[in-house]
Amino acid sequence: MQYFDHTATKLIEKDVIEFYLKQLKANNYNPAAIYASGLEAAESISNSAKSIAKNLECEPDEIIFTSGATESINTAIKGIVLSPNPKTKRILTSAGEHSATTETLKFLEQKMDYQIDVCDLDANGQINLDQLERYLKNEKYDLLTIIHVNNVLGTINPIEKIVALRNQYQKELPIHLDSVQTLGKLELNLSKLGIELASFSLHKIGTPKGIGLLYKSRNTRIEPLIHGGGQQNSLRSGTENPALVATAAYVIEKTTKFLTEDLAKINKLSNYLTSQLDQAKINYQYIPSNDAEVVPHINAILFPNLRAETLLNVLNIKDIAVSIGSACSNKKSKQNEILKKLQLPGQMDKHILRISLASNNTKEEINDLVTKISEALAKYAV
Ligand code: PLP
Repeated sequence: MQYFDHTATKLIEKDVIEFYLKQLKANNYNPAAIYASGLEAAESISNSAKSIAKNLECEPDEIIFTSGATESINTAIKGIVLSPNPKTKRILTSAGEHSATTETLKFLEQKMDYQIDVCDLDANGQINLDQLERYLKNEKYDLLTIIHVNNVLGTINPIEKIVALRNQYQKELPIHLDSVQTLGKLELNLSKLGIELASFSLHKIGTPKGIGLLYKSRNTRIEPLIHGGGQQNSLRSGTENPALVATAAYVIEKTTKFLTEDLAKINKLSNYLTSQLDQAKINYQYIPSNDAEVVPHINAILFPNLRAETLLNVLNIKDIAVSIGSACSNKKSKQNEILKKLQLPGQMDKHILRISLASNNTKEEINDLVTKISEALAKYAV
């Protein structure tokens, strides 16, 4: 299969499988056990946390291992809501969030009487900063939760400006960042960003599924969601998987090391994709417009003459994997909420295909993809 859906999940590479298998054999004891092998497992987790903290530029005790970003996001948001900090029962967010955030906020609205204020997106899918400023100036909040890199459009939100506005109007307000699409796509320095919480899903950078991170700065208080044996400073009970945690550290190290090189390759591939679409004289539009700040991995492309669902199905038959919107909304027939917010004329949001690239995609694969798109358009375009 030709794979252009690396935003949904990055496929596990051979060296990672080998590393994980080796770890499963050698590092499989309960890290809470107090005999030598258990202590070794605990030390391995501690070393993994140190390595991850070094790469993400934070402290090891600011890292909480979770099952994935959905759990991290739930823990961050509900953890703040349940914490003993004084409450305004109001949360500020944007219209560009993943369902892990929107559904959590909906739950708080319906079950805990929270008021959720939502900043609109501009035509590029970035948060409306004027509106954010008005909200921060006029209301008090428990939390500001915001996506960093939009998983549908690839747009980068201006975190520095958002942090500056928070500092200007509500210095005590914690910010939670959905950083799922940041890792491996942008340089990340958690200590410098000025945020308090950040969520990650590590399968997005090529670990096995089932592991995520929650960054929580030392001076931020959250209430745990999962109670039990008191692991991870009682912030997330449950026996850790030392082999998986070690694999996470391995993949994060590798991703950080090759970030600049990978970024350059993917930039070239993304430019090559549009140059080939131009050369094939295909009618398309790059969303968001080219002057927006986007990551080159995520290419949201509008084909005015064909619905994206039809194109996806035709490509699927040819064994090419692309997507429409985010992976979890693909199977639902409802319109993608983020694309709907762009307010494109007609129903053009239904014509947007997400082609997401990794550094191991090749020009030959892109040539083939463009040929297949061209054939599909010739046959089915309206
Ligand atoms: N946030 C963003 C931006 C995502 O892209 C995803 C996954 O697609 C998630 C959160 C949820 O991640 P997971 O399903 O791995 O928990």
